[in-house]
Amino acid sequence: MDAADMDKDLARVLISEDELQAKIKELAARIDEDYAGQDLLIVGVLKGAVMVMADLARALHLPVQMDWMAVSSYGAGTKSSGVVRVLKDLDTDIAGRHVLVVEDIIDSGLTLSWLVHNLKSRNPASVEICAALRKPDAVKVPIDVKYIGFDIPNEFVIGYGLDYSERYRNLPFIGTLAPHVYGEA
Ligand code: 5GP
Ligand code: MG
Ligand code: MG
Repeated sequence: MDAADMDKDLARVLISEDELQAKIKELAARIDEDYAGQDLLIVGVLKGAVMVMADLARALHLPVQMDWMAVSSYGAGTKSSGVVRVLKDLDTDIAGRHVLVVEDIIDSGLTLSWLVHNLKSRNPASVEICAALRKPDAVKVPIDVKYIGFDIPNEFVIGYGLDYSERYRNLPFIGTLAPHVYGEA
């Protein structure tokens, strides 16, 4: 598949690269201020959070540590199953640490609410959430999100780390897919 194919698969761009980058800088400035003088561990949720994690980490002035967790809740399709599996746990002991979970998107909220519960059982000093996107109309469990990039409509989106069958993660913007793509998967 070449660049033209990827263009053809897009229905529309929802959030441009410039808008994303500006928002990440804004969030980083708030995080810098909120955690000034504190020891912060940012935890990226693989694989979707790779882009926001990389951009956020570089926009921060705080000397953070970075760790990763991989959880699975979607399989290869477009619907959240609500069943969370840990595919990779943290390498870090978070007891007594300030933890900021960095996520690509909050859809039903099932994954994050499970994850926050799991992390809190390890006795960290604090656990907060930073998510690039949220779909307010899809949320099934209320979650307290301290840092949110954009609220978006209840549509399946791709790009900036988000995939459809492991494709489109490398798009630098957030978009929706043309209907013909779903038919082919
Ligand atoms: P939740 O548990 O909040 O429903 O979502 C879990 C995960 O499903 C998200 O972290 C994300 O990886 C994936 N997901 C949710 N909504 C979308 C979407 O619109 N597009 C893509 N590509 N992934 C999504
Ligand atoms: Mg995710
Ligand atoms: Mg996915």
